Amino acid sequence: MSRQIVTRFAPSPTGMLHIGGVRTALFCWLFARRHGGRFILRIEDTDLSRSTDDNIRIIEEGMAWCGLGWDEGPVVGDPSQWKGPHGPYRQMQRMDLYRAKIQELLDRNLAYRCRCSREAIEERRKTVEAAGKVFQYNRGLDRGKGCAAAKHDASEPAAIRFRMPEEGDIVVPDLIKGDTRFPADSLDDWIIARTGEGPGEIGVPTYNFCVVVDDTHMEVTHVIRGDDHLNNTPKQIPLFAAFGTELPAFAHVPMILGADGAKLSKRHGATSITEYQAMGLLPSAVRLALARLSWTPKIDGKAVESAEEELLTDEQMIQLFDLADCQKSAARFDMDKLQWLNQKLIQRAPWQELEPHLRPFMPEAWQGKPDAWKAQAIQCTQKGKSLTDMAEALRFTFERPAAFEEKAVEKFMTPAVKPALAEVVALPDYSHEGLEAGFNAILERHGLKTKDLAQALRVALCGRPVSPGIFDTLMLLGREEVVARLERWL
Ligand code: GLU
Repeated sequence: MSRQIVTRFAPSPTGMLHIGGVRTALFCWLFARRHGGRFILRIEDTDLSRSTDDNIRIIEEGMAWCGLGWDEGPVVGDPSQWKGPHGPYRQMQRMDLYRAKIQELLDRNLAYRCRCSREAIEERRKTVEAAGKVFQYNRGLDRGKGCAAAKHDASEPAAIRFRMPEEGDIVVPDLIKGDTRFPADSLDDWIIARTGEGPGEIGVPTYNFCVVVDDTHMEVTHVIRGDDHLNNTPKQIPLFAAFGTELPAFAHVPMILGADGAKLSKRHGATSITEYQAMGLLPSAVRLALARLSWTPKIDGKAVESAEEELLTDEQMIQLFDLADCQKSAARFDMDKLQWLNQKLIQRAPWQELEPHLRPFMPEAWQGKPDAWKAQAIQCTQKGKSLTDMAEALRFTFERPAAFEEKAVEKFMTPAVKPALAEVVALPDYSHEGLEAGFNAILERHGLKTKDLAQALRVALCGRPVSPGIFDTLMLLGREEVVARLERWL
């Protein structure tokens, strides 16, 4: 029986969840969902200065907002809890496992203690480089000699190095990039644990080591990660072999660049997922835009092209996702495209689907409104580009105007319109049909055009000549509030 597909997203807390990380997570998630597999969230928190509980929570909440639910991983906001059989899912809580594995490698002579001081190594590096050669640690300061041969015991503090193969090439097979070859002699015996505090003590294990232990222990079948990690993979492959682990498949996804072709960073604008959230984007739009950055979905072997075809649902993305259709080179982030997708997805979503996303942008009073009111409020503002636009368009329902646009007052509050406003006050029926009939009768009696009365009403009710459709505007406010707001104009 073939193994169940398992992917993992393994972010290191930095204080934000970068949009590039979200794209990696999305690919892991899509791939696991596509193959009925499991998706793991693992927190790589060995950098103690940055790995605060708050920073970890930023990742967990960002992932949850993006709709990238994990089958195994931390429980949001509670470091003592996790779900899944391979926990804990924070590396700092897995130190005993790493140390046991390091001891195992020492016992099997697949790793050795290195007592070379940092200074000695640096000095040697300088001499080698001065001679125009590339410095490598390679089993003691000289191949076959030094610490690798010395079989140091635990009587002095030491770093632990992993014995790398001496000959041939290490081939990194990759589902996106194909094979990359690394000559074995270009790779050091790398440090798997830093120098411990005292004799016999195993120091803090390094990133490349923990990743392999975790991917082995968590039975990860597909390592999907940013291609900035491609150079780490040839170090990791022999370690998987040392543990007797079937090598996972690798897929190194290309970087995301800014519009100018440089690596996407703060200076290009928003990079953190919380900023995208605050901009009023739907998580579904973020998912779709990120997926499309380096992936060309194919329907019946043909790349999707038309705008309509582009608006894939999650289900369609899951069904179509194939790492073979991902591009090898870096992609440029396209904010306009994201906003366009966002607008399209807002327009086509049922109100119930939009409501939970809109809620955080609305005042407290939103919660107390009946469903029918919310449905109308959403439906009549759904043309907006973003949730923030929608919230802005609905502000008039919660706040009386603090000021009235002067120019608009001059233009629309004409003497001819005032008696008509007085009649609006008297309209009894606030159903759509009732308002329409009443409105038309008023227009006729006063010889006004729809626009004349509608704009005057908007100015009076909202302070400016902008609001949803006029009947929606009246209905959302309700008769009592309309009457109260019109009073000062009569
Ligand atoms: N912790 C690494 C990072 O945040 C990811 C490591 C991996 O996916 O193997 O870049």
